[in-house]
Amino acid sequence: MHKPWDVIIIGAGTVGLPAAIFAAQRSDKILVLDAAPDIGGTLHLSGGQMSAAGTRLQQEKGIEDSPALHFEDVMRISKNTADSELVGLAVNNAAETMDWLETIGFQPLPGHPVKGQDHEPYSVQRYVWGAELGQSVLAVLRPQFEAVVESGRVTLKLSTRATRLVQDDNGAVTGVVTSTDGGAEETFSARSVVIAAGGYVANASLYEELSGHPAYADYCYPHCVGDGLTLGLAAGGVSRGREHYLTSFGSVMQSYDVPSKVRCDLEHWPERRMPWEIYVNVHGKRFIREDEPSVDLREHILQSQPNVRYWIVCDAVTLKEAPPLCPAFSPDEIKIAAESGEPMFYVADTIAALAEKAGLPGDVLAETVTAFNDGQARGVDCFGRSHLPRPVAKAPFYAIRAQGISVSGVVGLKVNNDLQIIRDDGTPVPGLYAAGEALGAGATMGNAICGGMLVTPALTFGRILGQHLLPMSG
Ligand SMILES: Cc1cc2nc3c(=O)[nH]c(=O)nc-3n(C[C@H](O)[C@H](O)[C@H](O)COP(=O)(O)OP(=O)(O)OC[C@H]3O[C@@H](n4cnc5c(N)ncnc54)[C@H](O)[C@@H]3O)c2cc1C
Repeated sequence: MHKPWDVIIIGAGTVGLPAAIFAAQRSDKILVLDAAPDIGGTLHLSGGQMSAAGTRLQQEKGIEDSPALHFEDVMRISKNTADSELVGLAVNNAAETMDWLETIGFQPLPGHPVKGQDHEPYSVQRYVWGAELGQSVLAVLRPQFEAVVESGRVTLKLSTRATRLVQDDNGAVTGVVTSTDGGAEETFSARSVVIAAGGYVANASLYEELSGHPAYADYCYPHCVGDGLTLGLAAGGVSRGREHYLTSFGSVMQSYDVPSKVRCDLEHWPERRMPWEIYVNVHGKRFIREDEPSVDLREHILQSQPNVRYWIVCDAVTLKEAPPLCPAFSPDEIKIAAESGEPMFYVADTIAALAEKAGLPGDVLAETVTAFNDGQARGVDCFGRSHLPRPVAKAPFYAIRAQGISVSGVVGLKVNNDLQIIRDDGTPVPGLYAAGEALGAGATMGNAICGGMLVTPALTFGRILGQHLLPMSG
């Protein structure tokens, strides 16, 4: 074993970077391991949207808010399915994290904080992100982290994957075994180990096993393959959160492969763009009022559709006259994609022919369109939809296949309020801590997408671990 380290942090991402930066104020024996050839983890591609209540920025703008209100909002949005202890720990400490980020140079977009729209809105403006999304957060963490590495207080080992934890006879974690890209194995001993290795979305088979759904989207950091969960479970920890699978309300995928890259996102928010089209499931039936105002409800209803998938159906007039359905695609580009037979885009002169191309039952789709058109003519929709600008009537007809996707793994390790990994009987595994997506996205969001409630808790828990695992050095 190498010389004993005070703390080994497995993962130099959203949790690991602040953990190391703050731990370096207390010790010069901090070892950070990352399987990737660079630091940053999911911040490289994350939306980087963060929520915090009671921040300096809010005070400067005269926005009244409190951690108690933030807590109420998260528990309301998650319908009390999030872990109230961890949500409390996250929201009570989020403002300090956000203020620190701004002190080191993070700049929220002008006009922020906002209540948010992409997910169920908050009751107060407490939601911020930077111009470069997750990269804006990484841009301010990177120099801080590089400084503590240059000072010698933190040792960084890249392309080094933690493969096993070392435990003593009492189960206390005393070290980490690693392997490098070249295959060399090393063992490092430590007083404490922090699992900051992220989630498992890049591990398609584990994802399907844990969520019961295929990993439809290849939209994840490739090194987040579930090692944190595996290491924690092998050391005696327990997992939770399988019931929290949650999907977004639809993206257009690049190919029929599973997983596939996302080709474009859809503008499905009625507050930004009222729907002119109808949505049908694989049975050719509508399943929702397309102008349903709650994004959370839209996501939950989609989740109960086969393959978490739907088809957006419209006619030639809607395609031409409605506001763009995909922000990255003009109506002409959609037309060309459909005419040239690109995946997910379909066009035909009749509803029956459209159904055949899109893989839908033609007779049911025809009945669905007729029923919608009848309601549209009378101004009364059977799903209660109020925005009914025109029927699906003028050939050619178009369909676009949309896929609900998830970019986070909901299952994770159970921890107590000190972020110690706990066993089935509630006792902590001595010396072993975890934070971030290794806890499962369901820990701080429950069965809903609560804005910013992954990035902010990851940064915050990392900071707290860095500050509290060791006494302040003189
Ligand atoms: C496309 C996308 C958009 C998102 N947008 C938002 C958003 O706007 N707001 C929000 O709150 N959340 C968002 N999320 C989720 C959020 O970004 C993540 O949950 C969070 O960044 C995870 O932080 P983490 O520290 O747990 O993991 P990461 O930041 O992924 O860090 C984990 C690190 O561990 C390393 N690692 C993995 N295994 C090992 C091992 N065995 N040994 C050594 N190192 C290892 C990885 O290489 C990585 O660097 C988004 C996620 C995605 C994919």
